Amino acid sequence: MGGRSGSEGVRMMGLRDVFCQERAIDMLQKAYACGRVPHAYIFAGADGVGRFTTALQWARLLLCHKPVVAGGFADSCGVCESCRIFAGGAHPDFAHVYKELREYTKDGKGKAAPVEMPIDVIREFLVDKITARPALSPRRVFVVSEGEKLNNASQNCLLKSLEEPPDFCHIILLCTRLERLLPTTRSRCQIVRFGPVAVERITQKLREMGLAGPAVEFFGRFAAGSIGRACRWGRLELDGAGIYEAKKAIVQSLAQLRYGGCLDAAERWIAMGKQIAAVWEKADEGISKSDINRRCQGLLLEMAVTAINDAMKLALGVADDIVHADQRGVIQQLAGWMGPEGCGAGVTEGYEAMRWVESSVNEKLIFEHLLLKLAEPTIMADRAAG
Ligand SMILES: [Zn+2]
Repeated sequence: MGGRSGSEGVRMMGLRDVFCQERAIDMLQKAYACGRVPHAYIFAGADGVGRFTTALQWARLLLCHKPVVAGGFADSCGVCESCRIFAGGAHPDFAHVYKELREYTKDGKGKAAPVEMPIDVIREFLVDKITARPALSPRRVFVVSEGEKLNNASQNCLLKSLEEPPDFCHIILLCTRLERLLPTTRSRCQIVRFGPVAVERITQKLREMGLAGPAVEFFGRFAAGSIGRACRWGRLELDGAGIYEAKKAIVQSLAQLRYGGCLDAAERWIAMGKQIAAVWEKADEGISKSDINRRCQGLLLEMAVTAINDAMKLALGVADDIVHADQRGVIQQLAGWMGPEGCGAGVTEGYEAMRWVESSVNEKLIFEHLLLKLAEPTIMADRAAG
C-alpha cells in the first residue's frame, strides 16, 4: 500500500520515523544488531498499518553505504549515494514487485489488470533477477506487495528463491492474510507482525492533515487501526470525495430501508461509490480503475456492515463503543426494526457481498441483492401498512 512509486515513504527520514510500529521495528533492529538479517521476511498485518513504509525504510538501511547506529538504533544515513538514489525512486538494487507489473511482462501487453498476483510477474521481476549481483549496494532487496494474492503457482515459483536466496538477496513479502500463504512459503520466512495503530494517533494525524469536524473522529474509529487507510480517506475527503457524507447517507438509508425502496437505494449507493472513485482515480494513478472501483464498493459495504454491527451491539446492549457514534440515534432506529437476529443475519450478508466484490461480481447485482435481503423483514410491515 501507500503509493506504487513509494515516493511517500521514500521522502521520510528513515526507520526512526515509522509511525507507531515500535515492536515490529524492534524485531528488525535486533536482527540487524546481531548481524543475522533473515533473507526472507513476511510483514504481516492489516492494510495501511505501516508495512510498506517500514519495508521501504528497512530496504534503504540494508542498501545504505554508511548506516548510522545511535543508541542501539540502526538507520540509513540519508546522504550517501545509495540513500540519495533510493530517495529518487530508481535504485538499481531495489525492486518493488506488484501485480500490476503484468503489463510489463513479456506476454502481458494489453491484458486486463489482474486480481491475483500473476506467476509471470513473480518469475520475470523476481526469480529471474535474483542471482544478478548488486550494482551499487552491498545487497539487493525485493519487496512484494499483496502477498495474500499470490496463488499456489506463484508461490511455488517463488519457493526456491525463498529457500536458497543468494547471500546478498533479501525478500520481503507484505501480507494481510497469512492463511492465504502455503505452509511451505510461511516456514521459509521470518514473520514480523504489525499491529493496529491507536485511534488517538490516527485522529491526531488526520487533524495535522487539515481535516476537521465529525469526519475526523469517525475515520479514526472506522479505520480499525489502519492509519494508512484513514490518511487516504482524509486526503480524498480534502479533495472533495464526500466519503463522510456518503457514509451518513448509507446509515440513514439502512435505518429507513423498505423493500419497495431497495432498488432506488442501490442506485444511490452506486452513484456515491462512483463519485468517490472519480476523485480517487485522480489522486492515485498507480492503481487500476477496476481496483479503485472494487475498493470503493468495498468501502461502502464496510460502512453498511459496521452500521449493522453497531445496531446489533445496541440491540443486545452488549457494548457502548460503536463505530457510528456520530449517528447513534439513527443506529438506534436501525436496531429497532432489524432486531438482534436480523442484525446478525445482516452482517453475514454484508460480508458475503464484500466477497462478491473481490470476485468482481457486477456492482448493481451486489448492492441490489444485499439491500433486498436486508429489507425482507419489512415486506410484511409494508403489506400491513398498505
Ligand atoms: Zn546511506
